Amino acid sequence: MNLIFLGAPGAGKGTMADMAVQKLGIPHISTGDLFREAIKNETVLGKKVKDILASGALVPDDVTVAMVEERLAKPDAAKGWILDGFPRTTPQAEALSRIAKVDLVVEFGVRDEVVVGRLSTRRVCKACGKIYNVKTLPPKVEGVCDACGGEVYTRPDDREEAIRTRLSTYHAQTAPLIAWYGGKGLLASLEGEGDPKDVFARFEALLAARDAKAR
Ligand code: ADP
Ligand code: ZN
Repeated sequence: MNLIFLGAPGAGKGTMADMAVQKLGIPHISTGDLFREAIKNETVLGKKVKDILASGALVPDDVTVAMVEERLAKPDAAKGWILDGFPRTTPQAEALSRIAKVDLVVEFGVRDEVVVGRLSTRRVCKACGKIYNVKTLPPKVEGVCDACGGEVYTRPDDREEAIRTRLSTYHAQTAPLIAWYGGKGLLASLEGEGDPKDVFARFEALLAARDAKAR
């Protein structure tokens, strides 16, 4: 199954995708994680996008699409994937439709003020990308990743100025994809507010309803 998780920054796409990987056995492909990995490894791509990510602006479409195309060609992506953070613009969605078939787009709806609250308390593992929240989902030991022992830190773009840039970019460039995929009959919208466990239960119910219909 080829899935897209759509929603504002901080809507919980990454957290839900991490949970869904266990259930579905397909990889979670986050373009944000891929860019951060490239920055950490100081690759050519990483050097190109470092300042863009820190500012909260979008990486150019051609660069992003090329990276995604390469990732989707890897063997583990053959049985399906969850794309998180891509597509983020209409040209990206058009490019993706030429690369692969999308089965379902899940939109996680969260109000802006909730997003700002979540992002300012979000922490991320520098080594493995696991997502924490100082209020709702803290690591067992402060500053240390439960999964890998890596450093849990505040992303440079989870600062107020960059959060505002990301939100307005989301509304201007990414939110139009909700109608775009809706028009293709691929969209399912979920309430993204509340406890992560409850949001995930909504996602599971959505998949179960689709399965029942397909049978
Ligand atoms: P969030 O969803 O919390 O904003 P991500 O980790 O998905 O964070 O993305 C972080 C940053 O990576 C974005 O602000 C942007 O600079 C870059 N990025 C990620 N995905 C894309 C994309 N599809 N197109 C352009 N830039 C992207
Ligand atoms: Zn970790």
